[in-house]
Amino acid sequence: MKRIYNFSAGPATLPPSVLEEAGRGVQEIASSGMSVLEISHRSKLYESIHFGARDRLLKLMGLDSSQYTVLFVGGGASLQFAMLPMNFLSSGDTADFAHTGEWSAKAMAEAKRFGLVHVASTTAEQKFSRIDKNLRLSGAAKYVHITTNNTIEGTQWHSLPNTGDVPLLADASSDILSHAVDWNRFSMVYAGAQKNLGPAGVTLVVAKKSFLSQAHEQAPTMLQYKTHYKADSLYNTPPVFAIYMVGLVLKWIEDSGGIGAIEKSNREKAKVIYSALDQFPDGYEPAVTDFEDRSLMNITFRLRDAQREQKFLAGAEARGMDGLKGHRNVGGFRASIYNAFPVQGAYALAEYLSEFAQE
Ligand SMILES: *Cc1c(COP(=O)(O)O)cnc(C)c1O
Repeated sequence: MKRIYNFSAGPATLPPSVLEEAGRGVQEIASSGMSVLEISHRSKLYESIHFGARDRLLKLMGLDSSQYTVLFVGGGASLQFAMLPMNFLSSGDTADFAHTGEWSAKAMAEAKRFGLVHVASTTAEQKFSRIDKNLRLSGAAKYVHITTNNTIEGTQWHSLPNTGDVPLLADASSDILSHAVDWNRFSMVYAGAQKNLGPAGVTLVVAKKSFLSQAHEQAPTMLQYKTHYKADSLYNTPPVFAIYMVGLVLKWIEDSGGIGAIEKSNREKAKVIYSALDQFPDGYEPAVTDFEDRSLMNITFRLRDAQREQKFLAGAEARGMDGLKGHRNVGGFRASIYNAFPVQGAYALAEYLSEFAQE
């Protein structure tokens, strides 16, 4: 098999060594005579996979396991949009949001079903081409919610807002563990695994235990954080295979030199591609104008000559590059270069961008 450069926004490219090991695990896991797909979620073997992934994640995030825990849940980040307000807002309660794109819009729409939403900042009028990092908080919120990386628009928070005593929460689906972040500033962070950490099928909820203990208990059992917290995410059958793969990806991050090394390679990849785009302003229009808000994960751009979009895509495909089409709601192009995306792939795209512009 010849691997292509997969720029897909998610599910996204995974480290080849992880795929190989998972392939072996699908055959047989830990000399058990069983596939990882066949073992009981109540077995000792699975417990080591489950708690191993939890502990690795906390360690890589620099979080103390006496204060923070990890829940493995289903339903994607999209279910978290609803579970959060369902568990933390009562009618009349307010949640503050930084409105930075389509994902924050979806999160706010769900919060409105359970409480009041205060938009603490928005750049909707500028089509989310930058982030307004200056939050005007309501002063009465149960929590403040940000989207650390805006996957569709291509912006990213490179510093965290100060929310005082109000718990800071984040959807970090598309940049978790991609660069050094002081995660201790957050009361809760959630992320679907399929962009930076593994396959689709499991959502990671990393939360302060003291925050979780304030969750409501009215929701259906499976939709209460407390259910999963009390049962260590083993209340029902967890997505065993997805969690197993997240564990392998976390180990790969450690073996690659940790977050510092990952961040270094992510910065190099982004720099190479942005530089190629900026070098040809007559050919390309990067979607994000404020350099300080540009995402290291999702690079969004358009061709000045939209007539040539098909030609651009066909040329990319011929060079073994896929997944460059922009999100269906915004059009244009998007190069998603998460942790496992290889540095050589960024150079290959930059070279193509330069050739295509000159042509
Ligand atoms: C992909 C994505 C989502 C949606 O995730 P699902 O797991 O598909 O529900 C939510 N937020 C952000 C920032 C994303 O990138």
